[in-house]
Amino acid sequence: MRIAKAVPFAEELAEYSRESHEGASFHIDRRAFEGLWYALPFSRTRDADAREESNFTVISNDLETRFPETVQSHSFGHWACGWYERLYVRKDDVAAILAAQAWADALAGYPVADEEHCSELEYERDHPNETDCYSSDPECSCPVNTHECAEMLASAFESGEVTKDSEEWYCDFCGDWRELDAEERARLASWEYRQECAALESAGQMRLLDIA
Ligand SMILES: [Zn+2]
Ligand SMILES: [Zn+2]
Repeated sequence: MRIAKAVPFAEELAEYSRESHEGASFHIDRRAFEGLWYALPFSRTRDADAREESNFTVISNDLETRFPETVQSHSFGHWACGWYERLYVRKDDVAAILAAQAWADALAGYPVADEEHCSELEYERDHPNETDCYSSDPECSCPVNTHECAEMLASAFESGEVTKDSEEWYCDFCGDWRELDAEERARLASWEYRQECAALESAGQMRLLDIA
C-alpha cells in the first residue's frame, strides 16, 4: 500500500486493525471492510468509564465532522465486553489519517481529550438525580454533598412537610429520617410563631384597607 509506506501511522493502524478485530463478531463482510478501513485506537465499550466515553465522543465528533465521508464509527459484538463501538478511517484519506494521528499523539501526552467535557460527563454520571451523589470525591461540590440539613429543614417546614410537633423529618439530601432535636424543635416553633405574626399582620393590613 502506497499510503502505508508514506505515512508510518498508517502502518501502525494496519497492525492495530488486525489485533483489534480479534474476538469481534462481524455482521458485515469482514474482508471487504478490512480492505477499505483502518481501525482507530478510539473506542468505547458497554462498561466504558467517563473518560473513555468522553474521549470517544469528543474525538468522533471532531473527526466525523471534519471527514464525514472517510471517518465512521461501527459497533461490533464482542465475546468479552458485550459490544464495542470504534472509529474507523478510510485507508485512502491521508488527511483523515493524519488528523487521527494528531488525536492519538495528544492522548499519549495527556489521556483526556477534553477536560471540561469529561468532568461534565463524570458529574452527570455521579448525579443521576437531584438527591443522590455517587461521587468518589468526598469534597464533591454538588448540592447533595454540600447541603446544610438546617436549610433542608427550613424548606420542609415552609412546604408544610414538617411542623414543630413532628417526631422526625426526612432530609432528601441525606436520604434519611432524622429525629427532631430540641434545638430544631425550638427553631421550628419560632418560625411558626413568626409565620403567625406575619399572617396576623397582613390580616390586620387587610382590615385597615377595608376601613379605608
Ligand atoms: Zn456530588
Ligand atoms: Zn441532610
